Amino acid sequence: MEIYNFLPQTNCKKCGKDTCMAFALELLKGNVKIADCTPLVEEEKYSEKLENLKELIGDEEGKQKELRINVDEDECDGCGICVTVCPVNARYCYSTLSGKAPDYPPDEHQLFVVKGGKCELLNLEHCRRVAAEGRERECRVCETYCPREAVKIEYV
Ligand code: SF4
Ligand code: SF4
Ligand code: SF4
Repeated sequence: MEIYNFLPQTNCKKCGKDTCMAFALELLKGNVKIADCTPLVEEEKYSEKLENLKELIGDEEGKQKELRINVDEDECDGCGICVTVCPVNARYCYSTLSGKAPDYPPDEHQLFVVKGGKCELLNLEHCRRVAAEGRERECRVCETYCPREAVKIEYV
């Protein structure tokens, strides 16, 4: 359903499948590529869906993109907001739920920590964008709430 939600949902059959749902299932199995849905790739009105789909499963030709969460050290002032708002930090480091620093040493699931006045990213493999399912995979909480716009989520 997640893949289907990012398709045009017009059942135009240009991909050779009878429905967008059938195409979504073939994409999931790796039997077709995003590029096979020409309306999605070529029509401007679907550009947001296309970007979301590429984040989810890879580029048009099926090559999986790699998640990066970059923290700009020059911009970061060590406020610790990313530490307290990241849902994964909150799940494993209960002290962050009340706005405190996580217990030390860092939990193996912990994503953000502030050291020496700067934020550090620790265990990206536990980020919701990698480890969660459904809508949680669209998490952008750290990027959204960083007051200095120092956090950038990218796929490269
Ligand atoms: S080409 Fe795209 S929009 Fe048309 S049926 Fe196939 S998946 Fe759906
Ligand atoms: S929220 Fe932004 S400014 Fe604050 S510690 Fe995190 S990255 Fe740095
Ligand atoms: S995207 Fe979500 S889960 Fe991943 S580091 Fe940011 S706030 Fe945490």
